[in-house]
Amino acid sequence: MIPLADAQAAVLAPVEPLPPVRVALADAHGLVLAEEVVAPEPVPPFANTAVDGYAVRASDTASAPVRLRVVGELPAGAAPGRAVGAGEAIRIMTGAPVPPGADAVVMVEVTDAHGDEVVVHESVAPGANVRDAGGDLEAGARVFGPGTVLTPAHVGVLASLDRHEVVCHPRPRVGVLSTGDELVERGPLAPGKIRDSNRPMLRAVLAEAGCEVADYGIAPDDEHEIERRIARAVDECDLLLTSGAVSVGDYDYVKVVLERLAARRPGSGHRWVQVAIKPAKPLAFAHVGRVPVIGLPGNPVSSRVAFELFARPVLRRLAGHGDAGVLPVPVRAVARSGFRRRPDGKLHLDRVRVSVEGGRLVCERAGVQASNVLSGMAAANGLALVPDGEGVDAGDEVEVLLLGPPA
Ligand code: AMP
Ligand code: MG
Repeated sequence: MIPLADAQAAVLAPVEPLPPVRVALADAHGLVLAEEVVAPEPVPPFANTAVDGYAVRASDTASAPVRLRVVGELPAGAAPGRAVGAGEAIRIMTGAPVPPGADAVVMVEVTDAHGDEVVVHESVAPGANVRDAGGDLEAGARVFGPGTVLTPAHVGVLASLDRHEVVCHPRPRVGVLSTGDELVERGPLAPGKIRDSNRPMLRAVLAEAGCEVADYGIAPDDEHEIERRIARAVDECDLLLTSGAVSVGDYDYVKVVLERLAARRPGSGHRWVQVAIKPAKPLAFAHVGRVPVIGLPGNPVSSRVAFELFARPVLRRLAGHGDAGVLPVPVRAVARSGFRRRPDGKLHLDRVRVSVEGGRLVCERAGVQASNVLSGMAAANGLALVPDGEGVDAGDEVEVLLLGPPA
């Protein structure tokens, strides 16, 4: 058995970020930028008012209260027209350009309108309530650099700069393939059959992770059929996830096939390891040419756990995330009840329900803790990392990989 960190390092070693492509800004959310973005123009493009009120000469308000003549109106979107002269004001709405002659804006709340005059009750300093041109971004400023993960705010900034395409690492295209003679897609079950739950689960978690999914269906336990599908998938995808057929059963063909495909393509590699974790101990991974293939265990909980520990980091590396953003980062939570276990040389990943109590994260085991019981996984929103030994006492802290928001 090898430690989890070693297994993760080995899986990631041959994986490189996907070559950058041009992506429509509308599709870029969540992607990793691969270019330097420079502001071609200032943001905001012109000095404008931060409040509704009156554009004035600040010096005119020095002896407030003062009465000024209202000589015009500027709603947002209007081009500045007439200048503000001495003793004058222009009614102005948030976002409208500050007209020439004015150097401050008086909030409407400290004024009283009287026909074509306004009484200003408080004096303002020059620049008050004015948002300068380029106050957010100056023309020529370096805005975002390679490696930036594009959040909704980044998308908004890019739109404000008239960028409708950006150079990013693309969303990985990920193939999913289930194996097993016992698996059916849907409908009534003949004796000995079960429905495929891994592939729908993996499709869902991949969609959630912002990947493109390519579905290679259910392959029977037939070496040639498994080979045919894997060979096609590695030609069409950036990563392939198979499930099942990686342990030591008589019909476990995935490793045989990966070994053969890897031997045929230069630059390939493969490795079968036992990882010192429970669940998801057996792990098969290969890269056929440049395309990583992860053979997830068949048991659905193991499959889901192995996805989190091995497949997601590969996806994040492919998607261009920096080293700090590749491996999952645990949070610390207080164990509400004890996590008892026996020493076995393995790190246990217990399915837990994480919640917030008094501003702190607490967790407790959720559902049945068996690698075939997927409803236990469904009851959980985290995986507690229970180190080898006797376990964790109630009230102690335990590290948890969050799979969703605390409940
Ligand atoms: P295997 O690794 O192929 O020996 O499968 C281990 C266990 O996981 C067996 O009980 C399989 O029936 C089950 N299993 C494998 N693949 C799936 C799947 N896609 N959906 C649900 N159960 C599966
Ligand atoms: Mg099988």
